[in-house]
Amino acid sequence: MVKKILLAESDIPERWYNILPDLPGPPAPYLHPGTLQPMGPADLAPIFPQAIVAQEVSAEPWIEIPDQVRDVYRIWRPSPVYRAERLEKALDTPARIYFKYEGVSPAGSHKPNTAVPQAYYNAQEGVKRLTTETGAGQWGSALAFAGALFNLEVTVYMVKVSYEQKPYRRAMMEAWGATVHASPTDLTNAGRGILEQDPDSPGSLGIAISEAVEDAATHDDAKYSLGSVVNHVLLHQTVIGLEAKKQMEMAGEYPDVVIACVGGGSNFAGLTYPFIGDRLKGERSKTRFIAAEPAACPTLTRGAYAYDFGDAVGLGPVVKMFTLGHSFVPDRIHSGGLRYHGDAPSLCTLVDQGIVEGRAYKQNECFAEAVRFARSEGFLPAPEAAHALRAVAQEAAAAREAGEPRTILFGFSGHGHFDMSAYDAYFAGKLEDVELSQSRIDAAIEELPRIPAGV
Ligand SMILES: *Cc1c(COP(=O)(O)O)cnc(C)c1O
Repeated sequence: MVKKILLAESDIPERWYNILPDLPGPPAPYLHPGTLQPMGPADLAPIFPQAIVAQEVSAEPWIEIPDQVRDVYRIWRPSPVYRAERLEKALDTPARIYFKYEGVSPAGSHKPNTAVPQAYYNAQEGVKRLTTETGAGQWGSALAFAGALFNLEVTVYMVKVSYEQKPYRRAMMEAWGATVHASPTDLTNAGRGILEQDPDSPGSLGIAISEAVEDAATHDDAKYSLGSVVNHVLLHQTVIGLEAKKQMEMAGEYPDVVIACVGGGSNFAGLTYPFIGDRLKGERSKTRFIAAEPAACPTLTRGAYAYDFGDAVGLGPVVKMFTLGHSFVPDRIHSGGLRYHGDAPSLCTLVDQGIVEGRAYKQNECFAEAVRFARSEGFLPAPEAAHALRAVAQEAAAAREAGEPRTILFGFSGHGHFDMSAYDAYFAGKLEDVELSQSRIDAAIEELPRIPAGV
């Protein structure tokens, strides 16, 4: 039995897969935050370079990956697919479990898959500085790394709770030359407004996005860069699934279930969209897709499917998604990367259509699976990836009950080497199993923008 399925550098995909033309219906347009009327590509130009704007709205099913980007991808791509047979034994399941390991990138997660092309396109168009937000620090690290390779300055607004919990992520970004601020800051109007209301605000991704967008919009040589949620990011991440499909083929397999965790949806989309494309085209009608999210921020399972602001202050586009409300600040769970109040619009369409199933998990059950994984397969999962592992354990048990040797493929989105304080808290029994109350959800949904009739 092969343990790891490896591809050659020449197998790095030459094109990204764009799922938009294959979706059941046209995507809901982005709305302008001021007028709440549909936004055109020109409205995105102040914050994104032309090439990215074109990709954001493209109806082309395949988009070429520039040679300069593939050249950088070669540093860590193609990433391996592993057969987790020790985990199978530990879970006492007849299922065959495979995982696509994205922890091999310099930043330790899947995020450089999009940071690199974004830095490349910005540098091509003469941009000098990129601004962004980061939660757990994974995205900030990825962009700092990519910025270093393309000689761009990078300014990162890091959610304050993570800035305090993860000093080494900050140091990593600084090693790659980025400037990192704890958000909310007093450097932007958005940040100052939040601090006035709550000087001890732990910050949120929504707030940090507002600060980064404002910084880019008010400086001519700077553009903004997003790590998840929007179409072009999900597009770039499809290198994961395109490689994985080849690797599963080499193993003589096609997955019955594909599983990944969801913060904004980019690693989930990256792994699953090439497989979901097969299902949408009627080639593989039975494959199931499971999106694992935290019970403390259960957007897909308990959010409202509605138009909402992408950021806390209402500077960025208004998008149709499953949302807990743009002012929602999740509890301080350790999966910093899964604390966003909404999700990628294309993923939300797929959940709404019943093609993707969302499942929400509490912290302790996820860490229990992360530890089981570390003790069987060796790799230490990021707390985010531990959510996918929880779903894998459920599916492994379901296969046992059904007496079927199902094939499970999951996304191992990143390693947890910078998350050891979270493991510490778990071992000390100090992780709270936060579950969001319905009254908080109801209150958040009250604040959704009222969309004019006819939009
Ligand atoms: C950022 C991150 C996530 C969540 O973000 P998505 O856009 O949903 O993928 C998951 N896992 C890791 C390791 C991350 O860094």
